[in-house]
Amino acid sequence: MYRENISVKEAKDVIVSETRETETEEVLSIHSLGRHLGQDIVSPFSIPHFDNSAMDGFAVKSSVISNASYDNPIKVKIVEEIWAGKIPLNKIKEDCCAKIYTGAMIPEGADAVVRKEDVQVEGDLAIFKKPVEEGCDIRRKGEEIKEGDVVIKRGHKITSATIGLLASLMVKSIRVFKKPKILIIATGSELIEIDDTYSFGKIVNSNSWSLISMSEYYGAEPFYGGIVDDNRESLIRCFEKIEDVDIVITTGGVSVGDYDLVKDVFGSLGVKWLFWKVRMRPGHPVAFGKYKDRLFFALPGNPVSSMVTYDQFVLPAIKKMLGIGDYNRIRFYATVTEDIKRKADRTHFLRGRVYSRDGEIYVDVFHNQSSSAISSMIYSNCYVILEEGNTRIKRGERALVELFES
Ligand code: AMP
Ligand code: MG
Repeated sequence: MYRENISVKEAKDVIVSETRETETEEVLSIHSLGRHLGQDIVSPFSIPHFDNSAMDGFAVKSSVISNASYDNPIKVKIVEEIWAGKIPLNKIKEDCCAKIYTGAMIPEGADAVVRKEDVQVEGDLAIFKKPVEEGCDIRRKGEEIKEGDVVIKRGHKITSATIGLLASLMVKSIRVFKKPKILIIATGSELIEIDDTYSFGKIVNSNSWSLISMSEYYGAEPFYGGIVDDNRESLIRCFEKIEDVDIVITTGGVSVGDYDLVKDVFGSLGVKWLFWKVRMRPGHPVAFGKYKDRLFFALPGNPVSSMVTYDQFVLPAIKKMLGIGDYNRIRFYATVTEDIKRKADRTHFLRGRVYSRDGEIYVDVFHNQSSSAISSMIYSNCYVILEEGNTRIKRGERALVELFES
């Protein structure tokens, strides 16, 4: 038997403990944007590879010009010009220096670079009018990354900077987690497709498209499972489509109405339900179960409820599958701009807009909190979370907010 009417935290814990990482696959690093690393990346060498100059200027022994001033200019012979990519030919001693360019190798004996702007040149002499600190404008070997360091950890989401770093480490191919495959099925006899002609009284299936795009955004591979009528035969027929996916999501038909058959029918086909109903609003009638090693989410049909339950329950599962250690999203406190009062027996996810003014962070709660009003998600950038038992917040007090990522 499944658990009923549990807290948001309990529900999340059940989901995370039932979820396994996906397998990994090899891809070219340059084509891996947005994927999640399935391995640690160990640096094959140090970066920088060698001590090099951070500036165009002159490589010197700092002790030689320690007494230099406008009244006491010190002249030093330029023995060499070192450009990036060149191996220096000379050792720098007390009586000489080298002209050097950004990224070029620091010659042996030199311990500082004096910027070009601070040096006057006369023939083959460099004239220094002020001292330089030892180490100045030298980027040290291994300063950023040392050979053998784990530079990027598994689970990391690959950005353009990651691709640049992998290129500079000459790591041409990497293992990434396979994208979780998610089948998204809309249930409801009232639903029509977006390209049907509108007939009065029908509801256009919008849930599937918001959830498909969320799945893409979070690094999964969604499949559209179409619309299924609220009757046993249709639900049984659609069950054939669930082969070869990691996650099945249905929307609608999971509440207590006479036509809410999803839980019963899929249960009779072998889905083992682990919980039904979570103490939250919106999203209360959500159900979660497993069929073989597939995760099964039956999300409520109201557009906002389906998105909120996706954010709170499907997203942690996707994150775990992709090796991301932290299943939570960014949460912090913000000052509310009006009194908020809700029932204390559940967690509320109000839609709000967080912003900063004069260095303070405020959040406005959207005026329409109906679970059917999808516009409340569009004009918002966060959930204002009122946890169970803590559901009265006065204007000027602080509330917990969770930032949207998309
Ligand atoms: P249900 O959870 O099936 O009782 O549905 C609750 C409400 O959400 C009803 O008004 C449905 O018409 C609406 N709804 C259900 N599924 C969808 C969908 N896929 N797209 C848009 N609205 C839906
Ligand atoms: Mg329905």
